[in-house]
Amino acid sequence: MTRVFNFSPGPATLPEPVLRQAAAEMLDWHGSGMSVMEMSHRGKEFLSIHAQAEATLRELMGIPANYKVLFMQGGAIGENAIVPMNLIGRGGRADYIVTGDWSKKSQKEAKNFGTINVAASGEASKFTALPPQSQWKLDPGAAYVHICSNETIGGVQFHWTPQTGDVPLVADMSSDILSRPVDVSKYGLIYAGAQKNMGPSGLTVVIVRDDLLGHALPITPSAFNYQLQAENDSMYNTPPTYAIYIMGLVLQHFKSMGGMAAIEARNRAKAKVLYDCLDASSFYRNPVAPADRSLMNVPFWLKDDALDAEFLQGAQARGMIQLKGHRSVGGMRASIYNAMPIEGVQALVQYMKEFEAGHA
Ligand SMILES: *Cc1c(COP(=O)(O)O)cnc(C)c1O
Repeated sequence: MTRVFNFSPGPATLPEPVLRQAAAEMLDWHGSGMSVMEMSHRGKEFLSIHAQAEATLRELMGIPANYKVLFMQGGAIGENAIVPMNLIGRGGRADYIVTGDWSKKSQKEAKNFGTINVAASGEASKFTALPPQSQWKLDPGAAYVHICSNETIGGVQFHWTPQTGDVPLVADMSSDILSRPVDVSKYGLIYAGAQKNMGPSGLTVVIVRDDLLGHALPITPSAFNYQLQAENDSMYNTPPTYAIYIMGLVLQHFKSMGGMAAIEARNRAKAKVLYDCLDASSFYRNPVAPADRSLMNVPFWLKDDALDAEFLQGAQARGMIQLKGHRSVGGMRASIYNAMPIEGVQALVQYMKEFEAGHA
């Protein structure tokens, strides 16, 4: 068996020990005689898996007791509608900070549910830099302020927490949740699809402060009503049970890696190897302002895009896959989530240097 270094932005690489454990438990989970996939979501076996996944997430992220953790479906794109349906009822207006493709999409979808103000945009920099908070035109009467903490396509990441006063801060953390310590108490709501940094697709995690529940628009589908899901421990409808189980194993694995501070240090070291290579080269280019560079998704361009196909082919031949940039921007992108070992980044950088030398 050979495993590749998978630089996919998502669904993405998972820790190998987790996949091994899932394989070992596939036919008979802990003597139950069943696969987790075959269990009733209301049976005692799955309830214990669900409870442990939530407890480990709470522990890792230090989620305060006045926050609910919901396991939902619909992905982050689903949340683009689900968030305003649940939160915009408090006044009918919301602020969006547009820093790239994902927050742009969030803002566009939200317009179906209320008055949306783009309080700041990175468009002038072609989304290569975050607009500084001093330029934000926040509405003190907004129901919430929405950010995307890490733009998966553009490779721009918040390394600071916006100050929004009494207005709840909402963050799409799909591509950087659990990559570093986060002070959850600074947020009203955090959402993330699981398939970037914490599990398989099909599961969306929502962390929401208690007082924001109960304001859903009447059109909100029951399955997407946070309050209803909170009252039913995310079991108003059948939750994505197998994805929750795998996420639980991934969270245990993150715990065994030393928790969030240790994981952040590791991620910083990994990203440095790649950015140092890019900065030392005139053959490769990353356009993002250094202070706003993502530790998770590193887009880069070759000097001559006619070489893209050859670069990707050579990478594939060396067991490095999914380096092609998003179709909307071209170039390359290396996604280096928690489960990407530093050896993968080192192998990539080694290859990049060889490729550059061969095409100088
Ligand atoms: C991947 C991603 C999404 C979309 O997730 P889906 O699961 O396809 O809905 C949204 N926001 C961010 C930041 C992402 O990285």
